[in-house]
Amino acid sequence: MGTDFNIKNTVKKNPKIKISSIEEEYTSDQELVESLVAQNASIDNTDEFKIVYKKEVNGLFDYVIECIPKTLVKVVNKYVNIGWRDHFVKEYIYAPKCSNCNDYGHFKQVCTRQSLCGKCAGKHNTWNCKEKKEECCNCKKKNLKYDDHSATSKSCPVYKKQLQYVKEKINYVTSLQ
Ligand SMILES: [Zn+2]
Ligand SMILES: [Zn+2]
Ligand SMILES: [Zn+2]
Repeated sequence: MGTDFNIKNTVKKNPKIKISSIEEEYTSDQELVESLVAQNASIDNTDEFKIVYKKEVNGLFDYVIECIPKTLVKVVNKYVNIGWRDHFVKEYIYAPKCSNCNDYGHFKQVCTRQSLCGKCAGKHNTWNCKEKKEECCNCKKKNLKYDDHSATSKSCPVYKKQLQYVKEKINYVTSLQ
């Protein structure tokens, strides 16, 4: 079928999950997978987990883990048993944002634009901000209502749209008939 052909040729990224405050430090994907399979009836050897990112916070570890669509369905918004405790699994969706101009799609390291404040939309770095008011520089540029939130607000419509773009590039298809 023509449609199947199209689906298979659309390069989409695997979903990612975030699990926080894990006691164990896993040094390989294999170690993590074995632990998950051993401790969770719903997870088996056909599931895939690949550690993308690991961060130590006060002796505990936060993990961002890439998985495959069918594995995501099994674990997302559920608890999985790791080590001695159950851990809640959230989907991890991240929209890259510049900390200099607060626009999306690039990082500060390559930004040549005028600094724009993520709090008040003024022409200065966010960390130099002395303003009390909150204005969103991204909504201001797009002529949207900008004087009731900052560019870091989770309810910002520009941010929500960016998350939507990122989601559209994620593969959620669990099987192809
Ligand atoms: Zn920038
Ligand atoms: Zn400011
Ligand atoms: Zn906004």
